[in-house]
Amino acid sequence: MALLSIVLPAYNEEQNIENTCRVLSELLENNGIDYELVFISDGSRDGTFERIRDAAEKNPRIRGAEFSRNFGKEAGIFAGLEMAAGDAVVVMDCDLQHPPQVILKMWEMWQDGAQIVEGIKSGRGRESIWHRLFAGLFYKIMSALIKIDMNASSDFKLLDRKVVDVLLELPERNTFFRALSFWTGFQTKTVCYEVQERQFGKSKWSFWSLMKYAISNATSFSTLPLQMVTVMGVVSILFSLILGVQTLVKYLMGDAVEGFTTVILLILIIGGFLMLSLGIIGHYIARIYEEVKGRPKYIISRVTENVQGNVVGSWHRKD
Ligand code: UDP
Ligand code: MG
Repeated sequence: MALLSIVLPAYNEEQNIENTCRVLSELLENNGIDYELVFISDGSRDGTFERIRDAAEKNPRIRGAEFSRNFGKEAGIFAGLEMAAGDAVVVMDCDLQHPPQVILKMWEMWQDGAQIVEGIKSGRGRESIWHRLFAGLFYKIMSALIKIDMNASSDFKLLDRKVVDVLLELPERNTFFRALSFWTGFQTKTVCYEVQERQFGKSKWSFWSLMKYAISNATSFSTLPLQMVTVMGVVSILFSLILGVQTLVKYLMGDAVEGFTTVILLILIIGGFLMLSLGIIGHYIARIYEEVKGRPKYIISRVTENVQGNVVGSWHRKD
């Protein structure tokens, strides 16, 4: 019988773990699906890992690991994929904002041959106006950059074992799970869902952490900002040619351009462009620097008892 793994990254979610375990195990047991729940506590500072351990003691289908510090949700997802043993793997939030019922639909589609089942948000739940505006803008830009419609996409998906293995083979450290699964190009189906209200605790994203996430994801998937530097260069060269010829002609005709205003404006504009370009290039160099160091995506400090394996450094699967 095929095994379904559910990967649940959790950061300071002690109030959610027990409820989530109960809801998911009831749902899957009632539908006769062979399952396992894999929790990754992302360096939580509350009792998240203890709750996971309690759950794991009661139910051997529940396993979990804890990071030594907060490595971010992306790292959590990848650690979970690494640990998951299933023939199909579902990634979902552990606050049940991704409705569990949808898993059944995904599972059915997988049995009908889909290799990736994307969860598509049909509503965004209740979010602050800032969050909504910002997320909207971010996805517009992302969709344009990577030429895939990203609005309404989410981390809620089912992946076939083949896709999981491909993702785990990727050597890069700065990953963007949401877009990477598109990128693999496997046969994809979609299923719509309504984002639910968070029951316990609060969202872990602040405006700035979202901003950082957006920039880091946009640049991990596209070099368009770098090409924009070239475009800015070409535009200023054209501009300076025109202005240069005009200045010279005027000079030779005996009436040089007067006034510092032009000079000051030019210096300011060109200086601004230069620094912006340097910043963009610098950002990519920083990314290269991070990748070149080759540090692991995450470090696991503790695991529940029913997990074996070497856990310091990064995860090593023991088959
Ligand atoms: N999360 C995580 N590490 C982080 C931030 C969040 O593992 O650094 C998890 C969190 O526990 C939750 C999921 O990612 O299961 C989504 O986070 P959250 O609900 O805070 O985001 P929102 O639903 O508001 O977008
Ligand atoms: Mg949430």
